[in-house]
Amino acid sequence: MGPPLSSMAMAVMLRSRAVFLGPPGAGKGTQAKKVAETAAVAHLSTGDMLRQEVAAKTQLGLQAKTFMDAGKLVPDDVIIGMVRARIRLPDAKDAWILDGFPRTLPQAEALDKSLSGAAALSHVIYFAVPEAVLVGRLSGRRTCSKCGAIWHLENRPTKKAGVCDQCGSELVQRSDDRPEAIGKRLEVYRSQTAPLLAYYRDRRVLREIDASRSPDLVFQELLKLMQ
Ligand code: AMP
Repeated sequence: MGPPLSSMAMAVMLRSRAVFLGPPGAGKGTQAKKVAETAAVAHLSTGDMLRQEVAAKTQLGLQAKTFMDAGKLVPDDVIIGMVRARIRLPDAKDAWILDGFPRTLPQAEALDKSLSGAAALSHVIYFAVPEAVLVGRLSGRRTCSKCGAIWHLENRPTKKAGVCDQCGSELVQRSDDRPEAIGKRLEVYRSQTAPLLAYYRDRRVLREIDASRSPDLVFQELLKLMQ
């Protein structure tokens, strides 16, 4: 994991209100999880929230599932309402990392509106990765059905195939990591999410990270960027 965080870096990160932006498979979830654990900031992943709703078969989950399985975006009003409610919970009072949100211009505008005033965004970090690398990462990704740990058949294999090293539970492939959905998700990223790069560049908060490198290197650079 590298050297321990200095207390100064920790103090800055404790006030972070960051957005991790980038295509599916760029490593946003893996890194957000790691930074959140290291610096005690809340990790707000809209994909994880939706998967929990799907697993619990809530009305929202049932509504979202068809979009997710097809690699499409869940409608803005559903997502915006979910994030607004999540961000109000006590653990997200001081600092958070938004992972997978915003993904459209209306979502970015809604976020700006709900943060107007003192609590503006501290960082927007773009995880840049060439598309050929993304396809390999997504198709080999496996997730623990219990603890959510993220593995990869080639880049991060478990000791025993199909079993989580952390908790011993079964690994599953996300339904949207199947080949049919991957192409759609990348197309949706290009048309609906990539325009956010210009949106945040214009607001001078966008920082770019070369996320095609190893997870450890990306993590070290991320900590520097977020100070
Ligand atoms: P992720 O885990 O971030 O790749 O998200 C998985 C799926 O959840 C996406 O392919 C979308 O179907 C849905 N999703 C997650 N976040 C959003 C969002 N901000 N807006 C719309 N759909 C989302």
